[in-house]
Amino acid sequence: MAGEPQADCLFCKIVKGEVPATVVKETETTVAFRDINPQAPVHVLVIPKVHYPDAGSLAAAEPAIAADVLREAGEVALQENGEKGFRIVFNTGAGAGQTVFHAHAHVLGGRGFNWPPG
Ligand code: IMP
Repeated sequence: MAGEPQADCLFCKIVKGEVPATVVKETETTVAFRDINPQAPVHVLVIPKVHYPDAGSLAAAEPAIAADVLREAGEVALQENGEKGFRIVFNTGAGAGQTVFHAHAHVLGGRGFNWPPG
C-alpha cells in the first residue's frame, strides 16, 4: 500500500532502526541523519518516515508530510550551519543521480556552491 515500509528499502530500515544512522533530528513524521558520504561540511538527509520513491510522489500523496520535510530541512540547516546559506537538493530519478528511491532532501552547507549545479 502507498506509504507503507518497503522490506528492501535502506531508508525504511533506518526509520525502523534496523540500519544505524547518525540521527541529528527526528519528528513524528521525519528523520534527519548525516549522509554517509558527505559532499559538504554539513550534509544531512531529511526523509519522511512513510515510503514514497521520490519527493514529487510524496508531495502528491502526502502534502503535509512533504511540507514537514521542507520545514525540517530548514531547521536542520539552522541547527547545523547557523544563519549561513544552505542548499536543499531533491535528486529525482536515476537520470538526475538519485540512488536511493525513498524520498529525501539533501541539506548541504558549510561551503560555497556553484550555479548551475553539476
Ligand atoms: P541520492 O543519490 O540523491 O539518492 O542520495 C542518496 C544519498 O544517500 C547519497 O548521498 C548517499 O551517500 C547516502 N547514503 C547511502 N547509504 C547511506 C546510509 O546508510 N546512511 C546515510 N546515508 C547514506
